[in-house]
Amino acid sequence: MADSTTASGETLNFEAEVTQLLQLMVHAVYSNRDVFLRELISNAADACEKLRMRALQQSDLLGDDPDFKIVLSADKSGGTLTVADNGIGMDRTEMVENLGTIARSGTRAFLEGLAGGDGAALIGQFGVGFYSAFMVASSVDVVSRQAGATEAWRWWSDGTGEFHIEPVPLDKAPARGTRVTLTLNDDSKAYAEQETIERVVAEYSAHVPVPIVLELGDGTGEKTLADGGALWRKSRSEAEESEYAEFYGHVSGQYDEPALTVHYKAEGRHEYAVLLFVPSMKPFDLFDPARLGRIKLYVRRVYITDEAQVLPPWLRFVRGVVDSEDLPLNLSREMLQKNPILEAIGRGVTSRILSELDKLAEADRQRFEKVWDAFGAVIKEGLYEDVERRDAIYKIARFKTTKSEGAWRGLADYVGDLRPNQTAIYYALGDDQKKILESPHIEGFARRGIEVLLLSDPVDAFWVKTALGYDGKPFQSVTQGAADLEKVPVAEGEADVDAAPDSAVGTLAALFKQTLGDRVSEVRASTRLTTSMVCLVAGETGMDRQLEKILAANEQASVKGAPVLELNPGHALIKGLADKAVAGGHVEALEDAAILLFGEARILDGDPPDDPADHAARVGRLLVNAMAG
Ligand code: ADP
Repeated sequence: MADSTTASGETLNFEAEVTQLLQLMVHAVYSNRDVFLRELISNAADACEKLRMRALQQSDLLGDDPDFKIVLSADKSGGTLTVADNGIGMDRTEMVENLGTIARSGTRAFLEGLAGGDGAALIGQFGVGFYSAFMVASSVDVVSRQAGATEAWRWWSDGTGEFHIEPVPLDKAPARGTRVTLTLNDDSKAYAEQETIERVVAEYSAHVPVPIVLELGDGTGEKTLADGGALWRKSRSEAEESEYAEFYGHVSGQYDEPALTVHYKAEGRHEYAVLLFVPSMKPFDLFDPARLGRIKLYVRRVYITDEAQVLPPWLRFVRGVVDSEDLPLNLSREMLQKNPILEAIGRGVTSRILSELDKLAEADRQRFEKVWDAFGAVIKEGLYEDVERRDAIYKIARFKTTKSEGAWRGLADYVGDLRPNQTAIYYALGDDQKKILESPHIEGFARRGIEVLLLSDPVDAFWVKTALGYDGKPFQSVTQGAADLEKVPVAEGEADVDAAPDSAVGTLAALFKQTLGDRVSEVRASTRLTTSMVCLVAGETGMDRQLEKILAANEQASVKGAPVLELNPGHALIKGLADKAVAGGHVEALEDAAILLFGEARILDGDPPDDPADHAARVGRLLVNAMAG
């Protein structure tokens, strides 16, 4: 990694992704550069809170400076702005790792997302941390001394491909913590002005839980810009929406508006304060396999960790603070794992979030649907992971359906509109809604005016597998078993179908079965088809066909159990074939038909014919015969 080493320092290359990010920072014509200051202040506040926690066990780390603060100072003539904290600080290794690579799990995905899109706009929505300093600075200088350390280090970069690191004498370093000095570029000199600094802090950082002061350039002392009071300790009636929005920015690292703010104090068996937000945009790491949440756990105002996983993984997108009165301050990692108080808090907060979401759905449908758009696919994980929450989640779950024309429908809406004699909630699984809508399986449902849920999120396959039903109605796949459609009357305006007689279709089905052998478990007449000739469904007890495929792809199960081939007795071709079957003879033509239609049904399911070469040969023969007329 080292490019050059001198007696005093070293020049190192940034990780490739960082260079990419920095280039964006430098070149992006960026609409809101103010955000860099929030990122630096957030880092400074986090560093103070980390030390506050560490010092619980090791109080000598604080020395004679127990009061945390963030000090801003600017030099207008020199064009510099400095953000200094007396927090935990960084040693050499940490500086190289933290300021030379990309630690945030979402950032890589973010960069990939940038490839085609509008980088500047995206950076505006998602904080990219320390590196955003290069939007306003031609060079950044970081001097840090870790709490308790006897050495200090300086990190310096102009934001091109490399950075420098060298030791600094202690008298040139803060007594403890980190000092970040930006040499502002020509377009950004305003950030050295008191007015600008005050405005930006008021807008983005007024409620970080560490005080912020501004050193006045004329040597007249300092001015407090933020008192470090914990917003979550205020009562709801004392806090303003704008304060919430600003604090949300600090805890989430995002720049969207929170869609829902949940702020309350729990009293009783456990006492704790909660200030949580549901974002309106998806964080980048939403589908990261680790599925980690980032709620900040405090104990009596002292920040403990953001790794406690206070909420279940299906609420991992919720951001904010939970501050407990009852937990011990010296919580170790192991103690966090299975702590009964923390678990009780988690359960309480989960219930509250669900009920607040339900209230939001009632009070502000549009806003709620935005939340569901962004996080519905995650919340539905709770349907199979958190059985005790299932009913509460059913209540807020929304679905696109064959009748909703792109709008969201709740299960209560669905059940309220059941057709006469309809006893199940029907669903269709698939990769995307358009494909599901085109699948032959739902034709007969449309004909009878039966609504079908379109389940196209990967998670859907998992929860429907274990779902018992809603309001006494079982969930049933449109590709499963013999759909009991006959009992439901045909919808108004739908013509009656002139179908081939049962016995003729029966004869044809028997011949088909003979030809197809083990490839199908049964061939039978269908009630679910109206325009398509054929489709494949699962046997009576078999798993949904789509689900079986998804599980096989995840290697959770192998596709087993041959499917049922269903024939549309109302289709002209099937009628013609049935006539031929009854008449006898036509052995070769019927055999071709069996194999080609089976292939057809597989293609409609998104699979190739099981013997593509044989299929192609038969199609070829058919075409030659057709041409010969
Ligand atoms: P994030 O804050 O999201 O982790 P950043 O790029 O802003 O991403 O910072 C990277 C890391 O650098 C931080 O996680 C922290 O470990 C370290 N860091 C940044 N600023 C400071 C600071 N003022 N004091 C101590 N550590 C810091």
